[in-house]
Amino acid sequence: MTYKGRFAPSPSGRLHFGSIVCAVAAFLRAKSQDGLCCLRIEDLDLERCKTGNTKAILDDLNTLGFVFDGEVLIQTQNTKRYLKQGDYLFTNNEAFYCSCTRALLKQRPCTCSSLHLEKSDNTALFYKVKNNKGSFNDALRGEVFVDNIQNTVCLIRKDGIISYNLACVTDDIDMGITEIVRGADLIDITPVQIEMYEAFKACKPNYLHIPLALMDENHKLSKQNHSKAALDLMAPEKVLIKALEFLNQDISNLHTLSCRQILQKAADRFTLSSINTTDKVISIN
Ligand code: GLU
Repeated sequence: MTYKGRFAPSPSGRLHFGSIVCAVAAFLRAKSQDGLCCLRIEDLDLERCKTGNTKAILDDLNTLGFVFDGEVLIQTQNTKRYLKQGDYLFTNNEAFYCSCTRALLKQRPCTCSSLHLEKSDNTALFYKVKNNKGSFNDALRGEVFVDNIQNTVCLIRKDGIISYNLACVTDDIDMGITEIVRGADLIDITPVQIEMYEAFKACKPNYLHIPLALMDENHKLSKQNHSKAALDLMAPEKVLIKALEFLNQDISNLHTLSCRQILQKAADRFTLSSINTTDKVISIN
């Protein structure tokens, strides 16, 4: 089977260094195996994903020399599909509608899963997590164990916004993704996503979680903590080389090359086993 990976940024700002590390890892892992790497824009959270950011991210990726395979999937253009998948989970008793307000939940636990509420303007859809502990095989980390998994995961918010897990699992299934390469901050939710694959009767993909780029011991680089756009701080070729360095790849003889050439050469000599599993503080902003 042809390898098919993806890079799935949320356009809540321009690309920061941590996202670029993810893009580089996902792209090289695919290209080193003559596989495909697709691009998906996870723009469903409209409060965070302002208009204009998607174009800025596409421009940044282009400046960095990435050429992704196939059409770019923009999640806000695919909401009908997610609603259908939400209905499927509800019909199969894998999900329930909840009418609790935040204030009510502070006073008592939610009991909506036994009430069989119907969809309305005042209900949100939640997935019923089956196991509070789970494990999966990670290409870099081996067997990964996760415990204390929450009992429910929001699929569709009361305001109708589709949540990350429903959209992500739906798209990864529909796109035929064979391996998911992404940041280690998504390790904890992976067993739930695997359960959702089973609920949809789909084959689960392989996983590879790369270490996070941290601002300091406790904070990952993210748009929420105002990490700067990497391309405002450094030339694109330097950003790529720094991302390769972060992934412990061979960076010899890359310094005179263009971005595309750097990615090509790095794909030819990509080695998974060189990548560390520990998150690392980096000094970029
Ligand atoms: N959209 C997520 C992010 O930007 C990545 C989700 C995923 O790769 O599953 O952090």
